[in-house]
Amino acid sequence: TAAADQFIAGPTNAEVSEADRSRVFHSWSAQGALNPLPIAGGSGCMLWDFDGKQYLDFSSQLVNVTIGYQHPKVVAAIQRQADKLTTIAPAQANETRAKAAELITDIAPEGFNKVFFTNGGADAVENAIRMARLFTGRDKVISRYRSYHGNTGAAIVATGDWRRIPNEFARSHVHVFGPYLYRSEFWATSEREECERALHHLERVIQAEGPESIAAILLETIPGTAGIMPPPPGYLSGARQIADRYGILLILDEVMAGFGRTGEWLALDAYDVRPDLITFAKGVNSGYVPLGGVIISDPIAHHFDERVFPGGLTYSGHPLATASAIATIEAMREEKIVENAARIGADVIGPRLQEIAATREVVGDVRGKGVFWAIELVTNRDTKEPLGAPEMGKLKAGLLERGLLPFISDNRIHVVPPAIITADEAGRGLDIIDETLAAHRP
Ligand code: PMP
Repeated sequence: TAAADQFIAGPTNAEVSEADRSRVFHSWSAQGALNPLPIAGGSGCMLWDFDGKQYLDFSSQLVNVTIGYQHPKVVAAIQRQADKLTTIAPAQANETRAKAAELITDIAPEGFNKVFFTNGGADAVENAIRMARLFTGRDKVISRYRSYHGNTGAAIVATGDWRRIPNEFARSHVHVFGPYLYRSEFWATSEREECERALHHLERVIQAEGPESIAAILLETIPGTAGIMPPPPGYLSGARQIADRYGILLILDEVMAGFGRTGEWLALDAYDVRPDLITFAKGVNSGYVPLGGVIISDPIAHHFDERVFPGGLTYSGHPLATASAIATIEAMREEKIVENAARIGADVIGPRLQEIAATREVVGDVRGKGVFWAIELVTNRDTKEPLGAPEMGKLKAGLLERGLLPFISDNRIHVVPPAIITADEAGRGLDIIDETLAAHRP
């Protein structure tokens, strides 16, 4: 097999780790304490290291590899494009870019007919904010404390969760609490109460800040990195109504939740809400080549018919990236991968996680849909005290040892496998989670 060939012929884990540590400066890390997992190759939902150990991927890397590793149709499309043309400037016209934009706008709601391409999610958020500011002539952006929007200028200050890291440059960004019933900021005891109070809070903050100063409300349709919290019914449509009342735009960030992850093409499809701008990246081409962008509603697109949009990126709509997006979207349609994500979530992951929660005291909460789930681990179900970092570290080691690559964030295990996962594979991964929790001793 490809796996076997690769580890017989190639370097060892130890050699790759050493080479990596000596030269690569890593994201989100203290450089002295690095221990990145060596990965040699992958196929479908499986990854393997340089010594031949295999992992079932329950992380999709950074929750982007929706279509799995080395999908033959996507790899072939990249190869065909590489033979034809490998780079093109933003100002030039190219059939691959145009076709990708057409497929992406086909997925978006009615009245979204233009795509601005970026290289990933953070720059998609940057440009959506820029468009909202230019369109409204207003400055402030409201987003949630529990959010992740990227790691560049405006995106990092929109990201509320990371205000734990002092950021004195967060001018013009205002944060609100969103609905999160398990740890309600509003003393709510039901989804309905949580929703009503979160919307009341949002509107009061807007009034206090001065509505005429606010360009946009920026929300992940389902907050991802900050805990995978599907909004209660009525929250997003309520935010839309509040935005309309004050002439504020609504930006929905679909970078993580979009393109199949939730068992819908866009996460917003499950909610009665119409944003003004939609950001995307990750699942659009499963990260095979860096790509993201903003899907723009007609009034905002037309605003720039006569006015210059003063923004751009050298690699906007790069041909290898857009070719891989076309192949990804077409393969997802042909192979019914979005439908698979919905079914696996409803029939396998959801029920099994509930079962695990019923028998394992350490599980405090289970939530999600599609292939987008979180379980929250606590030391005590009454106090809901989060399991600490050393305990989470031990659990992570236990999962890896048993052949599962998890996505762990704070006191949570995010169950976020590729959307192509089969019921058997999902069951196997959930068995490993259950076994690891069972073996866990505080
Ligand atoms: N928005 C959301 C909702 C995300 O989850 C992420 C990445 N995790 C980003 C934006 C930033 O994307 P990128 O890392 O591609 O810049």
